[in-house]
Amino acid sequence: MTGFPTEVDFAVIGAGAAGIGASRRLREAGTVSTVVLEARDRVGGRVHTIAPAGFPLDRGAEWLHSADRNPLSPIAQRLGFSVHRRPPEWTTRLRRSGETIEAEEEWIALREAQRLARHRAATEAEDGSLAGVLEPGGRWSQLLEATSSWANGAELGRVSIKDYVRYEDSGTNWRLGEGYGRLFETLAEGLPVVHEAAVSLVDHGGRAIRLETLRGAVTARRVIVTVPTSIIANEILRFDPPLPDKLAAAAGLPLGVDDKLFISLEGALPGIEHDIYLLGSTISRETMSYQVRPLDRPAIYCFFGGRFAAALEREGQAAMFSFAAGELTRLLGNDIGKRMAPLASTAWLQDPWARGSYSYALPGHADDRAVLAAPVGDRLFFAGEACSPNFFSTAHGAWLSGITAAEAALEKLRAAAADR
Ligand SMILES: Cc1cc2nc3c(=O)[nH]c(=O)nc-3n(C[C@H](O)[C@H](O)[C@H](O)COP(=O)(O)OP(=O)(O)OC[C@H]3O[C@@H](n4cnc5c(N)ncnc54)[C@H](O)[C@@H]3O)c2cc1C
Repeated sequence: MTGFPTEVDFAVIGAGAAGIGASRRLREAGTVSTVVLEARDRVGGRVHTIAPAGFPLDRGAEWLHSADRNPLSPIAQRLGFSVHRRPPEWTTRLRRSGETIEAEEEWIALREAQRLARHRAATEAEDGSLAGVLEPGGRWSQLLEATSSWANGAELGRVSIKDYVRYEDSGTNWRLGEGYGRLFETLAEGLPVVHEAAVSLVDHGGRAIRLETLRGAVTARRVIVTVPTSIIANEILRFDPPLPDKLAAAAGLPLGVDDKLFISLEGALPGIEHDIYLLGSTISRETMSYQVRPLDRPAIYCFFGGRFAAALEREGQAAMFSFAAGELTRLLGNDIGKRMAPLASTAWLQDPWARGSYSYALPGHADDRAVLAAPVGDRLFFAGEACSPNFFSTAHGAWLSGITAAEAALEKLRAAAADR
């Protein structure tokens, strides 16, 4: 870890994917002194790998989404990470959850119809919510709600259609054998990160920008803010003079809730060699999605979102496990009950430096991403997944937004030097 400086050219607030991307780009530029001020005692933010049972578990981001377009895919390969290309079948194999093949086909056709309806609705002048294109009381409405809670961290009625359709999904998803978190730890090596240095105030009224942190004050000529929208909207980090546009944009882009429970699984499951995906229920929005024996590991990863996840977080890991064990024994038989034990779980909503999982836009707030990402004058820049126009809610979207902000800041620095 870097010592605490009092004066720098650049300060980056936050050492998550965006802050690491920004800081590496500044380091490439070579000539500027930089500090990365991070509230936690580790880097990575919402990308974090742990290994309580000897194999890596990603508490946050796990998938290289849009992997064939994701700039982190070639970087991971170059760094020697093992990239697993086995495609997930997240929500397409309903027959494993007690539905018939015909029902599964009906669901897949409905999903395509929903996709087209969303794109049509997004061209209308007024924004609406994803619930607006639902058939009232339809056969699959609960499962659509559950899938929204996994994709957006929020129920359909809370999510802007215009924003949702701007997300670019190539449909290719890969995983890293060593964990996504380990990739960001590697990318952060040698960066000037100061841990446990939460910034509470960005005072940008004077000639230099003054940052108040838990470790004391730092002045910087330019600042890149990469904290989650929840931290700006709740004024955990404040600006003086105030920035009401940023506050409003951050409030329009709240973080949804998604959590994970990791379960150890003893012994084989007949007929299941590796990586199958199960949906706990097709008729309740309060359900989990399960990765069984992911990458052939003796484990089950459980994923759940929205209001259901927020409630389970409050109840704790034992309640998460009891719910998951109930669904899994219904699907896989009673015998599995004796072979499972909880390994670890997350509570991202309760995490003080995340306060949620990833951003979605409220109806009418799709353009808030551009407002949040816009620089203030030529000294204050913004990055983070919520600033990404097309890859929001992802680690690579955050990474790219950090690089974009660093390049914009370097450009202003060059322009100012040329004017002198
Ligand atoms: C359960 C879950 C599953 C996910 N799955 C995937 C996935 O499979 N694929 C994918 O691409 N994405 C996934 N994501 C989303 C992805 O993790 C995030 O979009 C991305 O990591 C956000 O990066 P960021 O740099 O914008 O923010 P963060 O990672 O939150 O980084 C911001 C940093 O700022 C720090 N900070 C906060 N406040 C302050 C302060 N006041 N002062 C100083 N530092 C501060 C934080 O500690 C943090 O380190 C998932 C997220 C979760 C929670």
